[in-house]
Amino acid sequence: MLLLECPWCGGRNASEFAYAGEPMPRPDPESAGPAEWRGYLYLRANRCGWTRERWYHRAGCRRFFEIERNTQTHELRPVGGGAGGPDE
Ligand SMILES: [Zn+2]
Repeated sequence: MLLLECPWCGGRNASEFAYAGEPMPRPDPESAGPAEWRGYLYLRANRCGWTRERWYHRAGCRRFFEIERNTQTHELRPVGGGAGGPDE
């Protein structure tokens, strides 16, 4: 079982959450071309090791937050500040 730490609700079973992907800046709709949109929509880094992820607490507070997860060990650590945390 993977236990995710929601900044607002605390530790909960991962089944309460939906994976929302790697956080990526959205291209400017006025200037972005097809290649830039394709990269934004479909291409992911899929790194081995520590990666930053966005999660949605769908069975709880219904808020988005970011965490860092080690894809080899599933070790989790919170992301300080920003990213929709409780300080925003
Ligand atoms: Zn929550």
